[in-house]
Amino acid sequence: MKAALFEKPHHLTVTQRNLRGLKSNEVIVRIAACGVCGTDLHIVEGSSRSTPPVVLGHEYTGIIEELGSDVHEYSVGDSVAVDPNISCGSCYFCRRGEVHLCENLRALGVDIDGGMAELCIVPVKQLYRLPKSISTEKAAFIEPLSCAVHGIDRARIRPGDTVAILGGGTVGLLLLQLARISGASRVIVVEPLEWKRKIATNVGADFVLNPDKEKITDVIRDLTRVGADVVLECVGKPETIALGFEIARRGGTLELFGVCPVGTKVPFEPNNVYFKELTVVGSYVNPHTFERAVSLLAESRISIEHFVIKQFSLDGVHEALKSLREGTTIKSLINPSL
Ligand SMILES: [Zn+2]
Ligand SMILES: [Zn+2]
Repeated sequence: MKAALFEKPHHLTVTQRNLRGLKSNEVIVRIAACGVCGTDLHIVEGSSRSTPPVVLGHEYTGIIEELGSDVHEYSVGDSVAVDPNISCGSCYFCRRGEVHLCENLRALGVDIDGGMAELCIVPVKQLYRLPKSISTEKAAFIEPLSCAVHGIDRARIRPGDTVAILGGGTVGLLLLQLARISGASRVIVVEPLEWKRKIATNVGADFVLNPDKEKITDVIRDLTRVGADVVLECVGKPETIALGFEIARRGGTLELFGVCPVGTKVPFEPNNVYFKELTVVGSYVNPHTFERAVSLLAESRISIEHFVIKQFSLDGVHEALKSLREGTTIKSLINPSL
């Protein structure tokens, strides 16, 4: 079968790869779509860890093609999404329910062959059955949405809060909609690109600000007087993180969702945390949130209609990564049937 194989930094090739033998608790999924994400780009550029040689792709959906001998709860032809993160179940963290912090965490598309391929072997416990109401495009958003749902859980937004979101990409636009569902009275999105600000407005932002044109700290002060109750940083750059410390109100929360390159350092003033009693939280992947992400998309509580989505064939994987690097789409999908 055809697959996008990562061999070493800057070496991603579309090649023929044989599937290994199917174990009794696994299924073969025929991939319908696989999202391309910043993590894929970081792996290819060598700034994020992985276990090569490995087929990339951790945001995917498809149809079950073959069942392992012990799999009885699914049938061939079922539509499924795949939670890529596989925890061990027996380490300190797993036994405390913090499966995403597992000491032996491995991920499909990072350590084990993933979804940028025609076919993929998936352990049955990683599968989520999809209702008919979910289109293939929507289904490819389940994984990033499951991470955003965890981010919202961590942010502890309360009804009536003012939420500032730094970055209007995939995650920013998902968090924006989740913040509204969580009861935020006002959502402010800070994003330099006009077309992304337009989408943010279309999916419910009350204010969209251009950091290249406006002094964000001043505008936030004018809008809120005291600062934002919750700031969600979705860019992963030192300057936006520093801005987050500034615009969070006294007693507010700053969440770091954006992924910085390994080794990034951000100077901050400890007094900003001390006197303001800031709560700074991280949010990593998607512990026990996949089912909720399926439900939110199936019931159309989260909209991707206004998103700019582009599909690429497997051979177009480099083009898809380029679109991500240049930020020309909200989501690029690999569709192996193209
Ligand atoms: Zn991802
Ligand atoms: Zn574990």
